[in-house]
Amino acid sequence: MAGEPQTDCLFCKIVSGDIPATIVRESATTVAFRDINPQAPTHVLVIPKVHYPDAASLAAAEPQIAADVLTEAGAVAADEKIDSTGYRIIFNTGSGAGQTVFHAHAHVLGGRGLQWPPG
Ligand code: 5GP
Ligand code: ZN
Repeated sequence: MAGEPQTDCLFCKIVSGDIPATIVRESATTVAFRDINPQAPTHVLVIPKVHYPDAASLAAAEPQIAADVLTEAGAVAADEKIDSTGYRIIFNTGSGAGQTVFHAHAHVLGGRGLQWPPG
């Protein structure tokens, strides 16, 4: 069924607790945890607990949960005190854009100067 946990999905295993992560926030519908390979002083991933392969499919099927991901991304930025200096929310979509885990996730990056446009 759409949104059900996938046995071969790394982030579903973080949601279930089968794989450990440094969780910084959790809501009824989302989990936020530190990226294992941080690209900035703050690099947190916000994921929906339900499994959808990318942000657009999540938004199409579960718009409220997609909104929850954005709300939590903003809360992470406030918790990390990067909201005043600026931060970036990124949804890599497709392998050509650097997506490697096909469970929707927002990267929240900040704590250093961020170039625009990104590479
Ligand atoms: P993507 O490349 O799909 O946009 O982002 C996937 C992110 O997941 C990468 O930044 C990568 O460092 C992170 N990642 C991969 N495996 C793990 C893991 O086991 N634990 C955590 N916390 N992050 C991971
Ligand atoms: Zn998943």
